[in-house]
Amino acid sequence: MNRSAHQKTLPVGRFAPSPTGWLHFGSIVTALASYCLARSAGGSWLVRMEDLDRARLVAGADSVILYQLEALGLLWDGPIRYQSRCLPLYQAALERLQRQNRIYPCGCSRTQITAESHETGVDGPIYSGRCRQPEQRRRTRDSAWRLRVAPLAVRFRDGLQGEQRQQLAREVGDFIIRRRDGQFAYQLATPVDDADQGVTQVVRGGDLLGSTARQIYLLKLLGQPQPAYVHLPLALHADGRKISKSAADCPCLPARPSPQQAAAVLRAALAFLGQNLPPQFPPQASPAQIITWACQSFDLRRVDPQPRCAVPDGCEFNRAPAQGPA
Ligand SMILES: [Zn+2]
Repeated sequence: MNRSAHQKTLPVGRFAPSPTGWLHFGSIVTALASYCLARSAGGSWLVRMEDLDRARLVAGADSVILYQLEALGLLWDGPIRYQSRCLPLYQAALERLQRQNRIYPCGCSRTQITAESHETGVDGPIYSGRCRQPEQRRRTRDSAWRLRVAPLAVRFRDGLQGEQRQQLAREVGDFIIRRRDGQFAYQLATPVDDADQGVTQVVRGGDLLGSTARQIYLLKLLGQPQPAYVHLPLALHADGRKISKSAADCPCLPARPSPQQAAAVLRAALAFLGQNLPPQFPPQASPAQIITWACQSFDLRRVDPQPRCAVPDGCEFNRAPAQGPA
């Protein structure tokens, strides 16, 4: 993507939901924060559907997500990108890594990996590296592709969580960039898209903090610039579970929310982010009025980086009529 010198100075943010369900409170918080951080600096804001995992897709969830974003007043720039339509882009990145001799085919099953692993890392058992050696390689018809990681530490400064450091070889191991079933891995597709779309600001949930070093490492190998990262506090249920999209987990916003419902969720999401509306703010304000205020006033320093409960009992938005995916 070619950008003029002027455009380069403006941030490009993005929101990248998986259409495996509707927006939930956690994804609304993420969308809102990434929107405000990009827009408050005059930047653009993109929406990307991370729909590579066909087995988990919910039919029509992408349309519902877009309708909900519009109802919330979170209006995006340009066309919506669907990862499922960008496979040649990921294939090109894979081939580039292949030419650099950075990746190797691995035919190990999950059971074999677990049995041969000596350590547990951020994502479960660390791969032993067996298939790195051609003479030991398990040759199967459907091999995964793994990235060989160097024994070095990746460091970066997260805009909210502070200094981060991950030793990839010790904490993650050689990781998969294309699965045995041919599906490109999240760890490859996401940084490749961020680079291709010119994203300069990645704002997302704190559960992805452990993936960031891998994505920075891949961007370096692919000769791409590194965006700024902000990992938001996770929104938890009262019992400490992460709010997820699964099965009507957080019925905080119907598929076709009314302006009142959208405004109530926005107020709750802003409060979660430490951005409290002033007392004199009109109680009947529309979603658009709330968003305008939020973009003018958003201050990352007021966000508490710690995960915490977001759905207190009796909270107004929690009483919104719930509708599970049809
Ligand atoms: Zn293997």
